[in-house]
Amino acid sequence: MSSIVCLETLKAMKAYHNQLPTGQKVALVPTMGSLHDGHLALVKEAKRRAQVVIVSIFVNPLQFGPHEDYEKYPRDLKSDIQKLEPLEPLTVFAPLVTEMYPRGPSRTVLTMPSMTNVMCGLGRPGHFDGVATVVCKLFNIIRPDLALFGKKDAQQLAIIRQLTRDLNFPVEIVGVPTVREPSGLAMSSRNQYLTPNQKEQAAFLYRALLTGKTLFEGGERHAEKLMREVARILQEHHIEPEYISLVDYDTLAPVNTLVASPVILALAAPIGRARLIDNVVLEP
Ligand code: AMP
Repeated sequence: MSSIVCLETLKAMKAYHNQLPTGQKVALVPTMGSLHDGHLALVKEAKRRAQVVIVSIFVNPLQFGPHEDYEKYPRDLKSDIQKLEPLEPLTVFAPLVTEMYPRGPSRTVLTMPSMTNVMCGLGRPGHFDGVATVVCKLFNIIRPDLALFGKKDAQQLAIIRQLTRDLNFPVEIVGVPTVREPSGLAMSSRNQYLTPNQKEQAAFLYRALLTGKTLFEGGERHAEKLMREVARILQEHHIEPEYISLVDYDTLAPVNTLVASPVILALAAPIGRARLIDNVVLEP
């Protein structure tokens, strides 16, 4: 019998939390479900670091734009729970939208303009406000000691680190390395939208980033030149990026010359029906 506890209401979550033995560390892994090996890497890391692991599965309407894939986003709670079974004991928190937003859309929305209105935020206005808001809600509902996020979503990770510091949440934020297909393509729930040919094309996103990284390791320090080379490779493979950015690892401020602090070389590009993102970190 499965020892995965599935909670669907705030009330059940509160009761569950209250009966946890004191001193046990609680780790939260927030997801939107449609789980793949990238998500499972977060759960495994959480299990290494905490006695109690809670995986939240919630497709958050607040972070989708009006013309995005909120309605079509793949949802299959039963199959997600099956994928988590090898990692039990685990607790899943899978609330309905009406549980998270009982009075309709949240009137309180967290804004962090200098970090949310760049990179992916330019093409997805309001997206990171929605992410930041739901993460705050989850921190308050679940009260974790630590929370794990994928480095694949580098902008999201930087924003969550910042809001945790700014709002004094007593939560340790842990970044987990990106899990990739053998081709190098970063795993994503949205890869399901791709045909086999599009998947092959999408693998060039990472290869282009790696070329930038190789140039950097060879001594190139001009952001413009690194980004131009990434753009050239994408163009060779008929990929038109939404953006290619080189930004400070912590503040997400654009960087012109790579000097001392780590930077993120990131991109987003539409491939078929999917909008894909990826990044590498460059450490001078
Ligand atoms: P999502 O369900 O797409 O919102 O993702 C939930 C969490 O899983 C986020 O912290 C993501 O950054 C993380 N994640 C998604 N894909 C990957 C991946 N390929 N490798 C590592 N973490 C990932």
